[in-house]
This record gives sequence, C-alpha cells and structure tokens, in this order.
Amino acid sequence: MFEGMSEPDAKLSRAEIRHILDHVDDGVVVVDAGGRMIAVNSASDRYHALTVSPGGQLHWSDHHALFQADGVTPYSPDAHPLALALRGESVEGAEAFVRTDANPDGFWVRVTARPLIDNAGEIRGGLIVYRDVTDRKRVTAALRDAQSRFRAIFDRTYEFVGLIDLEGRLIEVNKSALDFIGARQDAVVGLAAEKTPWWPDDPQTTEFVKGAIAGAAAGQFVRADVRLKDAAGVLHDFDFSLKPVHDDAGSVVFLIAEGRNVDEQRRLHQAELATRDRFRRLLEAAPDAILEVNSEGQIVLANPQAEQMFGYTREELLAMSVDQLVPETDRGRHSRHRAVYAARAVTRPMGTGLDLRARRRNGEDFPVEISLSPAGTGDDFRVVAIVRDVSERRRVDRRLRAMQEQFTRELEVKNRELEQRNEEVERANRLKSEFLASISHELRSPLHTIIGFAELLQEGFDGPLNEKQLRFVSNIHHDSQHLLAIINDLLDLSKIEAGRMEIRPEPVLLAEIARDVCDSMREQAASKALEIRVNLDPELCVRADHTRLRQILFNLLSNAVKFTPQSGRVEISAARRRQKVAISVADTGIGIASPDHEAIFDKFYQVGSTTRGVREGTGLGLAITRKLVEQQGGRIWVESEPGLGSTFSFTLPSCGLNAETNRRLVLVVDAEARPAELLASYLEPEDIDTAHAESAGEALAMAAELLPDAVLAETSAARELAESLGAAPQTASIPVIAVSADDTAGGNHPKFFANLTKPVSRSLLIETVRRAMTR
Ligand code: ADP
Repeated sequence: MFEGMSEPDAKLSRAEIRHILDHVDDGVVVVDAGGRMIAVNSASDRYHALTVSPGGQLHWSDHHALFQADGVTPYSPDAHPLALALRGESVEGAEAFVRTDANPDGFWVRVTARPLIDNAGEIRGGLIVYRDVTDRKRVTAALRDAQSRFRAIFDRTYEFVGLIDLEGRLIEVNKSALDFIGARQDAVVGLAAEKTPWWPDDPQTTEFVKGAIAGAAAGQFVRADVRLKDAAGVLHDFDFSLKPVHDDAGSVVFLIAEGRNVDEQRRLHQAELATRDRFRRLLEAAPDAILEVNSEGQIVLANPQAEQMFGYTREELLAMSVDQLVPETDRGRHSRHRAVYAARAVTRPMGTGLDLRARRRNGEDFPVEISLSPAGTGDDFRVVAIVRDVSERRRVDRRLRAMQEQFTRELEVKNRELEQRNEEVERANRLKSEFLASISHELRSPLHTIIGFAELLQEGFDGPLNEKQLRFVSNIHHDSQHLLAIINDLLDLSKIEAGRMEIRPEPVLLAEIARDVCDSMREQAASKALEIRVNLDPELCVRADHTRLRQILFNLLSNAVKFTPQSGRVEISAARRRQKVAISVADTGIGIASPDHEAIFDKFYQVGSTTRGVREGTGLGLAITRKLVEQQGGRIWVESEPGLGSTFSFTLPSCGLNAETNRRLVLVVDAEARPAELLASYLEPEDIDTAHAESAGEALAMAAELLPDAVLAETSAARELAESLGAAPQTASIPVIAVSADDTAGGNHPKFFANLTKPVSRSLLIETVRRAMTR
C-alpha cells in the first residue's frame, strides 16, 4: 500500500507494524493525510514529546519539539519536515535539534521525512524518522578541534615542516615555511619537492633533494646542512632532515621534511669566535702576567708575559701548580689562601696590605701585586690572577721616600733658622725702639738748651744783634724747633710701638678740647687769613685720653692749616653715631689723590707733588695719629680729592652717658615692612635695636650715618651693600648677612659674613648676628 513496501507487507496490521517499529532505535512517526498520528514507535517518545497513546487521533503538530539547526529557532508547523512530507516533498537527513520537557538540554538529530503515496499517486500520509546524532556530532567536533590544534602546532612551530609523498611531491607544509617564501599552501602543494621555491635552482641541489627523498623513501634518516632561499632570494643556513613515516605494517607511507634556521646560531658562533680571538690577543698583549688556575691550583692558562716574568715556557707552566710560583716559605700559606678565596670569590686585589712575593725559575724572588677574579662555577671553579712585577716601582718609591725625608729634614732646619731670624728681628726691633727712645730723650735736653739760648739771643738779651746775626739765630731757632718736633714724634712712635704709650681714657668734652687746639693754631691761621670754625655740640662727650685726643686734633688741624692755601677754611665738626662719635677736620686745601689715601698714614710718607713748597713736616704725624686713634678703640680715614680739600675723620667711643647709645644696632634691608618687622621682633629681646631700610641705596646712606653693627639684607641688596659698604673706609668693617628666599637664588658672595636661607629660625638669626657683632 505504501510506496517502497511490497504488497504482502501492506497487509501487516497496525499493531504488527508498531511492534516492528518498536525495535528500531530511531524515532518513527507515521501520520495520515490529515496529519493525525497513526503510528509512533516507542523510540519516538524521546523525539516527539508524546506522552499519550496516539490512539486519540492526535495531530502531529501539537506534539512536535523540533528546532532548527541553530538549536534555538522552533520549526514553524508549516516548515516542519512532516508538513513538507504531507505536501509531497521529501526531506533527507536534515540536521535539527530536539528539546522536550523530559529532555530540556536537548540533542541533535538528523530528520528524514517522506510523503506516503498510494498507487494512484495520492498522498495518503507522511513518515518522519528521527536519528539521534548527538554523539556523532560530539566526536566530529572533537576531531575537528584536535585537527585544528594539531594544525596550529604544525603551523606555528618555528621550524619548517612539510610532508612529502613517496613520489617526492609536497603534500603539506606549515605556515612558518610558507611565510619564509611568502607563498600560499596551494601554490606549492603538489610540486615536486626539489622544484619548490625553498630550494636554490641548481643541479647540485636538485640532485641532493632527489637523493634525500629516495633515501628516506627507502627508510633512511637523512640529515644535512643546507641553504634555503627566502622570498627575497637570500640564502639562509638550515639544519635539514628528512624522515620516513611507517604504517602499522612497517612500510613507508610518507616523508616528513624538517628545516631549522641556524643563521642566529651561526652568528653567535662567529661572535664567540671573534670574542675568543680578541680575548686571546688581549691576553698576549697584556703588560701583566695572566694566569688562570683551576680549583686544584693547576695552571690552565698563561700568557707570554707570564712566561717572561717567571722564566718558564707555557708548556711548563701548564704542567705546574701555581704554588710553585710562590717562594717556598710562603707556599703553605698560599694554598690555604686559595681555599679561602674559592669560598668567597670576588674580584679583588690579593693579600691587601701584605708584601706579596713571587718566585722565578732561577730562584730569585721579587715583589708583586696580584688581582684575583673568579671564573667558571661549581666544579669548574677557576681563578684568573693578574700578576704585576712591582720591583721597579718599589725601587722608585724607596727613592722618592728618601728624597721626601731629606726635604723634610732640610725644611725643618730652614724653619728653625727662620724662627731664629724672626726672634732676632723682633729683638732688633725692640732694641731699635729702645734706642730711639733713649737717644731721643738724650737729644731733647741739649736741643732745649739750644732753643733756649737762641731765643735769648733773638730777644737781644745780651745786647742787640745786627740784622744778619738775627737772621742766622732765627734759622738756628727754627731748625732746632723742627728737630725737636721730629724727635718728639719719633719718641711717641717708638713708645707706641714698644707698647709703652699709656692711655688713660676718661670722659672728655670734645668742644672744650677743640677750642683749646684751635686757639693754639689761631696765629698760624691768621697769617694765611684762614677761617677756623668749630661746629660742635658743647655737651658732646667722648671717652678718650685727654692728652692724646689733644695730640690727634692738633696733628689734624695743623695739617689742615699747613695744606690749605691763603683764605681757605678749616672746620671741626662731630656726629654722634650710636656708641661712637665721629669727629671730622675738614679743610678747603690742596687735597689728596685717592692712591695716597692709605699711604699717608704710613711712617715718613709725604705726598711729594702736593707738599713741595709747603712747610716742611716730619711725615710722622698721621702715622702717630692713626696709632693713637686705634689704641683708643677708634678708626681714622680720609675723604679727599686734589684741589677740593680734605676731610679727615676718626671715631672714638662716646661717653655712654646715655644707655641708649650703647645698645647694638642691626640695619635690616627689605623692600617690605613685614619681614623686617619679624626680624626686629626676634632681635629686640636680645637688646639689639633695628633700623629698617627699604632699598640698598637707602641702606647705604643710613649705614654711613648710623654705623650699625651689622646689616641684614636680601641677597641682591646684600650683594650691592657688601660691595659699596666695603668700598667706603668708614663702613668697610660692617658685616653683611644675606638672607635669601631660597638657597639657589643669587648664591654666595665672598664679602658676605653669612648667607642664611628663609625661613630663618630665631635662634640661628640671633646666633649669626651675635657672631657678626663680636667679629
Ligand atoms: P707731615 O709732617 O708731612 O704733615 P703727616 O704724617 O702729618 O706728615 O702727613 C703726611 C702727608 O700727608 C703730608 O706730607 C701731606 O702730603 C699729606 N697731608 C696730610 N694732611 C693733609 C691735608 N690736610 N691736606 C693735604 N695733604 C695732607
């Protein structure tokens, strides 16, 4: 009745058919033309989600569980293979997926569906057969997976791998090999191996490849160093092999060709050869003996210098223990030291501090220096010893040391001589001062007599003199006076130098003393029509030795009168400068050029050009004056220009009647008031006053006026001040302390007393200022 069945079979009952079908593993469902299930075998339960007997004339479409090959899209009843079968189409082995309530994970099936057509050609129903292919699919997938893994290994191995059949044709080749020639698999597969692009196209190579294939096909393993050609035609060195692959029966089925690029290896090998060669040449050329010694102490390497130094040939050295190169007395110790070195091998000089000696073949021993470095490891431990013969150097060292000792001895003698000479000079100086003092003293008495008698004669005490006699006597008188002045000056100077000038400081009213001195000069001044002004505060008091202050003022005033021409002016003034008083004697005289400003204070110095024609002096006045000022704690300086007059100034301690003036003063220079205020607040409790200047210019003027004990200034202002304060004699000794915002700014200056970096701690500031003030 059904197509494909013979007539007698058609007579089988449904039950029989069902029975037969139940023996089939595949699920089978038969439907009539209306789609009602007329036969299902028991296996089909799995596929068709059919839980009830089909006796109830169930329609197949209510019970199918088929999904398309993607496993997720359900078959629509229209596209279902059974639906197609009922429309007269056959579906052969379509892949699909079944998921039922009983089997939610589902499984893969192959579905075959056919229409059932009767003899009249009419569709009477349809048949669907489900076959579970899950296992097969899994195996196939695993196989594919394994294959691709194998392929990946095959392709990615660094080596070139190819398969060649027994006819010598390439059947497979890996990616590394293809990349090398820049070709695709299909361009080379099937070619005779010797014609493939890897091989250089020459008869020799062709013959080699053919021979190799023949050999391998006959069961041999072929291996050779060959050269293969890359995509650019460049030849590279390869380690090539060809192996036969046998089947179970033992016959060769195909050949595996392998190639390993040995370019890098060759390069390394060559580099190593070059290094070795360089090392050998270095070894040969080294000026020191070089020995390599193994753990037993055996010499395993020696350079020509070692042969020369020790007097053995290389062959002899290589048969010796290194201990034999050490003097006999040191040998025991040497081999112990070798063991110690092996335990803690580092590159270092050997026997630091020891006097190392080596022994030549002829028995002579000589001093050496040895540097040791470890070489090799473990059992193969070796030591490289670089040995330098230092006989010559030792000799030179000894000579140098002897010379040095001799020089030191000579120097000591010279030093002693010098000391003696110094003592002698000092003694002579003392003697000179003493001699001057006594001779001056001795000279003064007769001079007083001469002057006295000359005066008597001048006054006509014993009868009048004629004009000529009078002139002569006047000359005697004048020159004797001058001689007396010189002698007095010399006496003063020698007293000061011998430290015998006594100074008794006491409060002295400056104005009184000045008036006194001026009075004694009035006559002289009047003779030149000079005006002498005293511009002094009558209260102004200095602490000084009355007599010596008078002498100082007298010297300065008499110079001023002496060096000021007709109708000039001389003025004495003073300014209180905190704990000091600065007294000035200014004139409108001939002035002094600046190169002489210092020299005039030297003994016997007179400015030749300017004093010529002026009254003679001793050249000692200013030297004495300076000594007297300094002895009383003051300083003296001059400001002058030729033709514009001179101002000589000196300082003396003020009387300290007023405590205010004895406090210390620091001049703080800062563009801003606040930082200055901070510094002031640090110093105030230390009894140190501060004055504030906003700029270097202002500070300069204030410093000249106030003579502060120290100046604190920002770096740039401090630089300017250090320069300009240093240039003026009255301010040169004021220490300048720089305060910089950061230590990179500006840097130091040789004239800075100190260089502090902000923020300055209170204690550091006070400590630095105190140090500056007591300098
Ligand atoms: P002198 O006895 O020559 O005055 P001083 O030591 O007192 O010796 O002075 C040294 C020199 O300094 C003088 O010779 C003179 O050249 C110069 N001198 C000193 N005072 C003045 C002055 N007020 N004006 C110009 N030159 C002066």
